[in-house]
Amino acid sequence: MTPHPLIAGNWKMNGLRASLAEIAQLGALYQPSLQQKTELLICPPATLLIGAQEIAARAKIALGGQNCHFLEYGPHTGDLSALMLKDAGASYVIVGHSERRHGHQETDAVVQAKAEAALKAGVTPIICVGETGAQRQAGVALAVVEEQIKASLPAEESSTIVVAYEPVWAIGTGVTPTLEEIAELHAFARDTLNRLFGSVVGDNIRLLYGGSVSPANAKDILMLKNVNGALVGGASLKAEDFIAIARAYL
Ligand code: PEP
Repeated sequence: MTPHPLIAGNWKMNGLRASLAEIAQLGALYQPSLQQKTELLICPPATLLIGAQEIAARAKIALGGQNCHFLEYGPHTGDLSALMLKDAGASYVIVGHSERRHGHQETDAVVQAKAEAALKAGVTPIICVGETGAQRQAGVALAVVEEQIKASLPAEESSTIVVAYEPVWAIGTGVTPTLEEIAELHAFARDTLNRLFGSVVGDNIRLLYGGSVSPANAKDILMLKNVNGALVGGASLKAEDFIAIARAYL
């Protein structure tokens, strides 16, 4: 059985309270027939989580954070723990997004600690991996992703986690890998998960593709084997674009 798909929206540092209307509109478009086919998740800025809680619950849309600290509490100015995100209504949290790996120098070890903290708090981590353009050019994309999967996933096996393959060069650029490249990478990532955790767990881990997913390319990407959903940045900001991506499953 293939895992239930997940279409996750990462709003990044975009959204004021007025943007909660997009979640309400998304809810109106998220009809029961689509609810059966795929789960929807919005990861707004943390400032909007509490305000979004009721709207999202009514709309059957899950909420998530975009990052968390690896500790539960303490003297870490400006940080939020997974427990705090859960308390504010999040059931997921993105960890190891390339904008944090590269913009905040997060290592695989830090990402792993965050993923483990999320699981401990009862929040599902979405762990991002992906090669840079230079690494793909150098022919080491598979090796980079294998190392990131081995070093940044929780040490203990759990099919609750979600892994997002996001080639760094495809994020926010409008450029995507070819369908063959996505299929190759996802088959390889699945194989790596199965080698790490065994196939009972590995086959049930949702493997998302992320990087310039749009209503125009969603169907081709989402129908590939081993692609169990998408992590969407830019196209998640407008309810109509985001729902058009999810409708690939209808
Ligand atoms: C992302 O931020 O995870 C992402 C995939 O962004 P975009 O869809 O805009 O490329």
